[in-house]
Amino acid sequence: MALGRWGSLLQQLWLRLYSPPGGECPPNDLEVKAFSNYASSCFTRLFLSPQEDRAASNGESRLIMLQCFPQRMTWEHLRPSAPKVNWAKAIWFKGSVPKFAFTFWTANLDRLPVRARLVAWGMNIYPLCCLCNQATESRDHLLLHCEYSEQVWEESLRRLGHTRFVFHNWSALITWLSSASVSTPSKLKLIVCHATIYLLWRERNNRHFNSSTTTPTALSRQLDRSARDLLLARRYRKGWQRLLSSWFAHS
Ligand SMILES: [Zn+2]
Repeated sequence: MALGRWGSLLQQLWLRLYSPPGGECPPNDLEVKAFSNYASSCFTRLFLSPQEDRAASNGESRLIMLQCFPQRMTWEHLRPSAPKVNWAKAIWFKGSVPKFAFTFWTANLDRLPVRARLVAWGMNIYPLCCLCNQATESRDHLLLHCEYSEQVWEESLRRLGHTRFVFHNWSALITWLSSASVSTPSKLKLIVCHATIYLLWRERNNRHFNSSTTTPTALSRQLDRSARDLLLARRYRKGWQRLLSSWFAHS
């Protein structure tokens, strides 16, 4: 077979995947060729053992692999893709905190199980807001317009160097997050907004499930602590060096 080392690698792979335990059943040339075509469409290095991976990382084999299976093309081929959305950069960015980003992403899709949604699903529950007990608990009310949330946002925005203002709906928040600001680094805005949403949602759940409450002032202190820890841990990363001083600028 003219496949050289690559053919040898395929044979090893074939044996690993298809040979019965305790016996070896080498493929013939046709099978190697068919397997090669199959592997071209779905092969990834995840299938390799550490020894094979090291072997494939040397010289010719690595060159052949890079020519046949560029990682980017393989990834693009394997994953389902969809058109880019305008809010992606407001949620997924390098250095984000997974639990913050996930909660924000779920909120952005309006998939958080707020009481208004649970009632709409037919559940017989009390529909008013966990935080203020005055309005129906929808996403926008709970996370943006509630009296409790407004106090937390007021402090978060003050720390970002902004005077008090209210996001009239979720789209306004996303637009603000996506827009560049001269005075506030974009990454700091994202981190603080993600943390604010996460802490508000956690406070809501604490009240709903544990009957424990925290004041808006105490919640803002928790946010400050989270932001400090986060910025301190990332202070040597490219693009993060000045964020800690920006956060302290309005303390
Ligand atoms: Zn409320």
